[in-house]
Amino acid sequence: MSDDKDAKKDDSPGNFVWDLVCQDREKGKHGGKVVTRFPPEPNGYLHIGHAKSICLNFGIAQRVPGGQCNLRFDDTNPETEEVEFVESIKADVRWLGFDWGDNLFFASDYFGKLHEYAVAMIEAGAAYVDDRTTEEIRQTRGDFYKPGDEAPGRKRTPAENLALFERMKKGELADGAAVLRAKGDMASTDVKMRDPVMYRIRHARHHRTGDAWCIYPMYDWAHGQSDYIEGVTHSVCTLEFVNHRPLYHWFLDRIGAPEATRPQQIEFARLNLTFTVLSKRKLQELVYGKHVAGWDDPRMPTLAGMRRRGFTPEAIRAFCDRIGVSTKDSVVDVSLLEHALREDLNARCPRVMAVLRPIKVTLENFPEGEVWEIDAPYDPEKPDGPSRKVPFSRELYIEADDFMENPPKKFFRLSPGAEVRLRYACIIKCKEVKKDGAGNVTELVCTYDPDSRGGTPKDGRKIKATLHWVSAKHAASAEVRLYDRLFRVENPLSGEGKDEWLSHLNPSSLEVLANAKVEPSLTGAIAGHAVQFERLGYFVVDPDAKPGALVFNRTITLKDTWANIAAKGEG
Ligand code: ATP
Ligand code: MG
Repeated sequence: MSDDKDAKKDDSPGNFVWDLVCQDREKGKHGGKVVTRFPPEPNGYLHIGHAKSICLNFGIAQRVPGGQCNLRFDDTNPETEEVEFVESIKADVRWLGFDWGDNLFFASDYFGKLHEYAVAMIEAGAAYVDDRTTEEIRQTRGDFYKPGDEAPGRKRTPAENLALFERMKKGELADGAAVLRAKGDMASTDVKMRDPVMYRIRHARHHRTGDAWCIYPMYDWAHGQSDYIEGVTHSVCTLEFVNHRPLYHWFLDRIGAPEATRPQQIEFARLNLTFTVLSKRKLQELVYGKHVAGWDDPRMPTLAGMRRRGFTPEAIRAFCDRIGVSTKDSVVDVSLLEHALREDLNARCPRVMAVLRPIKVTLENFPEGEVWEIDAPYDPEKPDGPSRKVPFSRELYIEADDFMENPPKKFFRLSPGAEVRLRYACIIKCKEVKKDGAGNVTELVCTYDPDSRGGTPKDGRKIKATLHWVSAKHAASAEVRLYDRLFRVENPLSGEGKDEWLSHLNPSSLEVLANAKVEPSLTGAIAGHAVQFERLGYFVVDPDAKPGALVFNRTITLKDTWANIAAKGEG
């Protein structure tokens, strides 16, 4: 980390982008000012990859006195952009814990300015209208070994090109009938420099400018200029933009931007995660193909999905800090993200009891009508800390798989004749197994040891297993949605076939349990309330929950069950 003296003190780890910013400040570049930006295209929801960019850009601005990070929507493509996406992106950035203050911008704010620049370039003979078909333009562009042909439009006078551009703007030409191109170098080995397209015609309504325009700037033309117009000092972007850099500079030369006021582009490696796809187009396919319930499906790597799943902004920020920022592409193990999540939830979630697949237990020697109101701490490691009352009575539910009629040797939980401890309550022993006509276990008749109240038997005998439970009469019913990884292979996109990645969807990524029982303290829990169900994992109340109809999402299991599967597979 740089030891820049006035930089705000915090615990964020350093990274090479931060180091470059610090060096620029020391040199007094941009008068010591630091302006970054996060420039999403509003054509989908933000995902965890975007979070890396948000944490980096907003993080840098936060660490510098007077630092600024703009939220700029790159809304140059009217056909794919929607207000819904703009609103969701704003909500997600805020939720992650960042604030753009007054610095909310849209590339469409600059349509007028960009048009002025373009007109000036045409007047200077630096841009021209190409009214050939897209196909012709492509065919005459050449390739790495062969220079492209010069377009006929290049030979027109500026006045002629200006008139044609005006007709494009007025809507007199159809979509695709003409484009505005900059006069680059058709022989350049950098194919991007071969007369790059600046404007295309799209008779489409724009979410902000309505029908005011039917020509729209290309991303490459709008992006660098937008940074420049906003006074961005450090334009931080992902590696695939390295080869756009010369073009961005060249455009800035054309519009006469002084060297000292130009943004410096810094590229970093985008986030890739195992078992996850992070391409917005692929995420769109998942949503529109109904492979998931929506953008905020808790299995999606979108911030909206992760929020609904029970991720916290703190966990995501901690993860982004931990993975760091580099200039080499790599794939991060998703278990690192899950680890950050467990670590955060472990520190914040109260421990409560829920039974997901209930089986009834009747304590035949427990007095009918008697109820123990057990004072149970929310954090077992702090027995004197905050607590709630958990009722215990004659009829209980325990987890069906905590019982086995014919247990193998090392099964220490409940079985006929065996003893177990019920958390915070007492020791019980199974006397009888009741079944229905089909042979399914319907009820366990047990006795409790009155001398074991609290869970410790008076005679000091060892009890190996402690089970969670709820009181049948007092428990609230709940639907529980058990979520798991959406893909069952590490690299879902590795296949050759176009739709092959969809065959890697995990068919067990969602299991719905309709008859779960939760302790009564959770009765009025509202959406977003996060808890640990003892022995089961972390869960959060889903927004689908209604008064009297609880719905819980499993955020994550207590342990990494996938690691066990992988280890077993190898052994
Ligand atoms: P996708 O490839 O998923 O469609 P994108 O780059 O087209 O993503 P944008 O809306 O343009 O999506 O992204 C906004 C910003 O977020 C860009 O600066 C981009 O570099 C950054 N970004 C996008 N995906 C990632 C990622 N996986 N890791 C880090 N940064 C990312
Ligand atoms: Mg993009």
